[in-house]
Amino acid sequence: MQNCFCCSGEKIELCCGPFLNGKRTPQNAEQLMRSRFSAYCTKNYQYILETYGNEQRIKLNIEGLSSAAENTHWIGLKVLNFTAISDNFAQVEFIAFYNEAGTVYQMHEISDFELQDSQWKYTTGQMQSDSGKIKLSRNAPCPCTSGKKFKQCCLNKVS
Ligand SMILES: [Zn+2]
Ligand SMILES: [Zn+2]
Repeated sequence: MQNCFCCSGEKIELCCGPFLNGKRTPQNAEQLMRSRFSAYCTKNYQYILETYGNEQRIKLNIEGLSSAAENTHWIGLKVLNFTAISDNFAQVEFIAFYNEAGTVYQMHEISDFELQDSQWKYTTGQMQSDSGKIKLSRNAPCPCTSGKKFKQCCLNKVS
């Protein structure tokens, strides 16, 4: 079994897999956030669309989501903070790493999640100012948490 795309260290079948194939529903905002990252990694834009909040979803479609992410190769995820603000509102702070045409970027965001019809949904996010191009040395540990050096792993992965 493969380790999960969301870098939890769990096998995919024990982590985001059952959410992505509809067998289970994420029980909290962090699980949903992780599963959305894994959905981007596997180009499961149907799942991305379905897990947007009601208000956001009506303005989106699968073609738009997939073309926006066309040249992005998702490398790894670091969840920094999970805050349950109330029973139906939570925030997750994370850094997602990605590669576009050989350049590595980080996206540092604090995302808002709401419980809508008993399911956690992503509503909006505040991008943090340190998002953007990053210098990652070729010998640094790969942010995908494979345990390999970056140069031997995701450096050359371009989707
Ligand atoms: Zn996962
Ligand atoms: Zn890697």
